[in-house]
Amino acid sequence: WRPDDEDERPRRGMVGPVRVRVPAKVNLHLGVGPLRPDGYHELNTVYQAISIHDELTARRGDTLTLTMEGEGAGELALDETNLVIKAARALAAHAGVPAHARLHLRKQIPLAGGLAGGSADAAATLVACDALWGTDLSRDDLAGIAAGLGSDVPFLVYGGTALGTGHGETISPILARPVTWHWVVAIADGGLSTPAAYRELDRLRAEYAAPPPLRNADALLAALRGRDAARLGRALGNDLQAAALSLRPALAETLKAGEAAGALAGIVSGSGPTCVFLASDAGHAERVAAELTASGLCRTVRTAYGPVPGARVG
Ligand code: ATP
Repeated sequence: WRPDDEDERPRRGMVGPVRVRVPAKVNLHLGVGPLRPDGYHELNTVYQAISIHDELTARRGDTLTLTMEGEGAGELALDETNLVIKAARALAAHAGVPAHARLHLRKQIPLAGGLAGGSADAAATLVACDALWGTDLSRDDLAGIAAGLGSDVPFLVYGGTALGTGHGETISPILARPVTWHWVVAIADGGLSTPAAYRELDRLRAEYAAPPPLRNADALLAALRGRDAARLGRALGNDLQAAALSLRPALAETLKAGEAAGALAGIVSGSGPTCVFLASDAGHAERVAAELTASGLCRTVRTAYGPVPGARVG
């Protein structure tokens, strides 16, 4: 800095670009309770962050702008409706700083895929702008702001494997001895709207006399502690799966194809249409992925592992 630049120098925060990587999530267990008066369903879910990442770069700017490349480019609005812009504004309002940044998003997580891509981008923005602006908030503070942006956003601030309660926004990390689980991720053409999947679930449930009680995650948590992939496969469960299959019957073929390809178990991820399959190790995941690709049922098939950390600089 030359002395006459002194006034221009940001008083806090990073001068150079801040790059944040953020993972996708899968729900290993998704128990959906009855619709609450506030319009949310009560959830009991186990999230896991997996190794498919979006990347957000934040630079100093005079206003707030967003550009993007990759999944959804040209489709996703980059205006005030984008969760990245909403997250930057929420952090700026919380910290009392101007929301000035040039943000660039590189997206690999498919849009409306059930992998919480938009929520991931919001979490990445909170972490990136916190570093860029030097607001220096704790993870818990960032997760508090995240809860106002969407049910899955707090989890993506933390990552790992965690229990989500409330409508998914109350996070309790699951501290298990480290073990890596291997996944095959089958990405379908087009997205499924999360609110539409919940509406379909309500419609299907209305055909029964009483709504089923909220399913807890005990079996899944025990399977995680047991570190046995076959047992984990048996414990995977998603109450939204019936709704996703009802809206997109072709997903049943994908689930069958994954199991025929030798996966330990398959499940619709969140509200779909992405399906995820559990494999016993990295080589097994590659073999299942190759067979699923050959089936021609999916737009893209990827392997991934989890748990991985949440939104992180670097
Ligand atoms: P979930 O698993 O949490 O239900 P999803 O993976 O099905 O989420 P997302 O990709 O997170 O779905 O986004 C759903 C919708 O959110 C998109 O269709 C889009 O309209 C809106 N949205 C706003 N900002 C973003 C963003 N940065 N990336 C993706 N979607 C966004």
